[in-house]
Order: sequence, then structure tokens, then C-alpha cells
Amino acid sequence: MDFCKKCLLPETYPKLYLNSEGYCNVCVAYEQKFKNYDPVKAEQELRKKLEEASRKNNKLVVTCSGGIDSSYVLYLCRTKYNLDIIGAHFDHGFQSKAAQENLHNLSESLHFPIITVKPNLDILYKLYRDFLLRTGDFCTPCCQGCCRVGFIVAGSHNIQTIIHGGVSGSRIEFNVLGMLKHHYERFMKIIEDDYSSEELQALLTPTDEIKKFNLISLPQYIHWDEREIINLLKNEFKWKPLPNGRTRYVDCLIADVADYFLQRKFGFSRQWMIVSANIRAGFIDPEQGRIMIKSKEAKITEEPREAINILLDKTMLTRKQIEGLPFYTSEPAVRYLR
Ligand SMILES: [Zn+2]
Repeated sequence: MDFCKKCLLPETYPKLYLNSEGYCNVCVAYEQKFKNYDPVKAEQELRKKLEEASRKNNKLVVTCSGGIDSSYVLYLCRTKYNLDIIGAHFDHGFQSKAAQENLHNLSESLHFPIITVKPNLDILYKLYRDFLLRTGDFCTPCCQGCCRVGFIVAGSHNIQTIIHGGVSGSRIEFNVLGMLKHHYERFMKIIEDDYSSEELQALLTPTDEIKKFNLISLPQYIHWDEREIINLLKNEFKWKPLPNGRTRYVDCLIADVADYFLQRKFGFSRQWMIVSANIRAGFIDPEQGRIMIKSKEAKITEEPREAINILLDKTMLTRKQIEGLPFYTSEPAVRYLR
């Protein structure tokens, strides 16, 4: 198996191909897209957008989870850009204690309110169950819900602008080539007609409705070095990772399960994709990235027993049902990474 000479993504990554020099199409497109990137200009543009948004509404909405990116967004909005904000938080039913404490500490220290939207958890767990049985992964309903909460809070307060820490389109976008498909259209295709629009109301935002809002993704405009961000959050807000040391998706008790299933389905997990994105952006040195990928992916090959039990319990599924699914056919690509 071959790997991109730069970002180390495996050639088995969907829609990825390596050129004759061994570089992948993502790295080639990245060079093109960001060759004239000017961080000073990008931040000026951001400040202009934030000023315009603040002129329209006194308060702005920030979607937050207690994870790295959105915690850093909250920090920047309050300290650097001095914005009056309302945090919008989605209870996805697998909340970790670490994330709840992170949100509490941020809200207390930075003086802003957080509104938590808790959907009907019976419906949500049923959706996780259906997605798992039909696709082999279960993150799509949560991804939709985490965005939905911003629209709900903004809509109910007559606010047009929602600020978030989604990395899509930024220099550290990791879901490259649309690998993880968590969008509205796929959601609807997978659930078919099994849910009423009332049942989905708290979770799903139709594409037309999104267009009525002004979305600002901070990672698109700002230097976004994960390791620097973690250090800052830990020092300033006693920001906590999960008890097992995990620093990504700390808001989710079953994040390890999501990676475990992805690795079995595709041969690699989000952890690999995230390290590759950081190598591409120059935040992680390629040789160090190689060591990180090897150690992170090797850990994922072991079943995260405790976390899987939490998922099985809430979705009323058995191990046998999951093992019988037809999606888990890939060998971990990390075995071939030298
Ligand atoms: Zn590459």
C-alpha cells in the first residue's frame, strides 16, 4: 500500500490518488489554494465581518461543545474580538463530564451565557441505531444536531450571525474529498420516510433555512495550531481532555467507538485524517506525524470495550448485531505504514 509522500493519507482513501511524484490530489490542490494565503489579510477580513455582524445584532451566537475548536472560538470571541455572545450547545446524549466542566469554566471566566438544547433522546438514540445498522457509523445525527442548535438559538433571539469552529474550508480541513458524509441530503436519504418532520425538528436544518443565516467559521481566517490551542486552553481555563488523554471530540463519550468503526470500515480513522491535515498545513512535522499516526491508529485497532457498551446500551443493540453488519471489511492501513 502506498501513502502520500507529504500528508501520509493512504491510497485507499476514497477519491484520493497519488501523482507520479507520490503526492496526493489533496496536497496538490492545497498548494494551489493556499499558495497566496496571507494571514494578516485573512484576519482583517474576519474583523470586518464580525464588525458588520455586531452592527446588525448586539449579540452573536457561538455553537459550542466543550471540545478544542469551539472552546477556542469562545475564547477568541470574548478576549480578542470583544463580542457579546450566547453559547449554543447541543446535548447529543453521550455528553462527557470533561466537556461539561470545560463549558462551565469557559462560561464563568469569560462571562457569557450558554443555552443547551436537549432533543428527545429516545428519537436521537433511535437515529444513532438506524444509522449504525444502515451505514456502519453513527455520527451523522449528532453532526446535524450540533449545527441545528445554532440555528435554533439564533432564530429564537432574532440573531442572524452564528460563529463556529468548524474546520471545513480552512487550512486544517481534515474531512477532505467529502469522506465523512454528514450532510442533510444524505441524512434524508438514509432515514427515508421513517421519521416525521416534527421528530426531526430539533435536529435537522434544511439547506434552504441555512441560507437565511450568516455563518462565520473562525478557523478559515485564523492561525489554528491545535497544540498551541490546547496549551492555551489548559493554562487559562483548566480545559480538560477525556480521562484517557483524548483531546479531540472530548465532548463525546463514544468518540473512540466512532474511530474504531471508521477504521474497520475504511482502514483509517478521523485521528489519521486530522494528523494528515496538520502535516499539510505545516503544524506537524511529517516525521513526527508518521509516529503520531502509527501510535494513534494502532490503539484504535483494539476494541474500546467500555465505550461500545455505552453505545449498545443506549441504542438497544447487541454485539452480535454489530458484528453481523456488512461494512467492516477493511484491514487497518497503519500495518503498511513504514
Ligand atoms: Zn497528501
